[in-house]
Amino acid sequence: MDKTFHIVTFGCQMNVNDSDWLTRALVCRGWRQAPEDEAWLFVLNTCSVRDKPEQKVYSELGRLDMHRKGKPGLTAAVGGCVAQQIGAGFFERFPFVRLVFGSDGIAQAPDALDQLAEDPGARLALLDFEASYPEREALLQPMPKAALPAYDADAGAPEAGPAQSFVNIMQGCDNFCAYCIVPYTRGRQKSRQPGAVLAECRARVEQGAREITLLGQNVNSFGLDAGGAGVGFAELLRQVAAIPGLLRLRFTTSHPKDIDPAVVRAFGELENLCPALHLPLQAGSDAVLLRMGRKYDRARYLDIVQALRAVRPDIALTTDLIVGFPGETEEDFAQTLEMMERVAFESSFSFRYSDRPGVASLRMGPKVPEDVGQERLLRLQSLQNGITKESLKALEGREANVLLEAPSRRQDEGQPFWRGRDPGGRVVNVRLSSDVAGTQLGGRMLRVRVVEAKNHSLLGEKVGPPW
Ligand code: SF4
Repeated sequence: MDKTFHIVTFGCQMNVNDSDWLTRALVCRGWRQAPEDEAWLFVLNTCSVRDKPEQKVYSELGRLDMHRKGKPGLTAAVGGCVAQQIGAGFFERFPFVRLVFGSDGIAQAPDALDQLAEDPGARLALLDFEASYPEREALLQPMPKAALPAYDADAGAPEAGPAQSFVNIMQGCDNFCAYCIVPYTRGRQKSRQPGAVLAECRARVEQGAREITLLGQNVNSFGLDAGGAGVGFAELLRQVAAIPGLLRLRFTTSHPKDIDPAVVRAFGELENLCPALHLPLQAGSDAVLLRMGRKYDRARYLDIVQALRAVRPDIALTTDLIVGFPGETEEDFAQTLEMMERVAFESSFSFRYSDRPGVASLRMGPKVPEDVGQERLLRLQSLQNGITKESLKALEGREANVLLEAPSRRQDEGQPFWRGRDPGGRVVNVRLSSDVAGTQLGGRMLRVRVVEAKNHSLLGEKVGPPW
């Protein structure tokens, strides 16, 4: 049997990073990535944060079953949050699913997949939560750069190979926000040993990473459990920022209730800490924030914004918002709009509230009718579009360092464009001269002048040598 695999990933950057690790682990063991049609193993890494995740997974597996009818040997593995919820239930409904694994079980998934390849009758479930962060980098053999997963420009995946790396610093969450399923599907918070975080960051930089994003469900509470070995998040940031050769450092996701003044100060002190912060607000009304169990209010959020802007006036703030949380009135919603204008978020991810199994908000009421929630969401997004447009427009004529990621789909009279990001995390499409067409520029830092603001990105041109 040819050990070939194909991974499809839903959900957040943590899932993207898990899939990236699994890819590297399988390649290290002699497995080969293949198109879906040809792969012996299909891995579905699932997410249950948004609408109807279970149905989405079932329909994906059903599609696969139809597509592969008559072709023997189809084997699937389901990982991530939906696997944690449904577990062995997948085995009954889809006999070709032979492995289910949760986010703590992924470290053992490569062994399990090898076992499935050896034993056609085997079925395995890796769903236990671990007491500490399941360390997994040591399970990888050193791998040549060429074997790293390719950047998928069409999918827009931010995992760009060696120039930009994502490093997990923790797993799970202890916050139990009323609407969120994460503590049930990813377990309680487990910080990773700081030494292991630093070792992985150093290795990534040695392999060519110029930008690292530290990842966790709530990075600001890093070290508040036993795993952090007495190192808090601000200290971890300092240690990672000091790695020679690291040009850019980012982190996500932050919780306003846990953001430490030392982290705020770090934005003014660490030269390679990018002036960009994703700080989920979720709602602009104190009454809604209270019911959500977020443990901060508008005033606290605005204080953080003020402190951040005092140390980094150019900081780009982005956020997450939930519209139509149970009991949200038109007045509550108006306060969310007002906060959006007051903070002037550069962009936001906004969603209409939907019930999740087992979470506290399931029992809260009254539910906001679907059409009302939808209408509020459209108003919110329309306001955001206007603010985004204005903030991008204000950058016209300014210069910035852009880290190039991949060739852009944009073309202009045969001139090549490369897509990259400025320190604020904004997408910049850079027009280059035609003599560099076909040159590998990923990971190059370029001084760029912004020539035009588009709706959600910037258009720039290179200013002066060198590359
Ligand atoms: S902080 Fe709240 S919203 Fe974020 S993962 Fe934890 S429970 Fe979910």
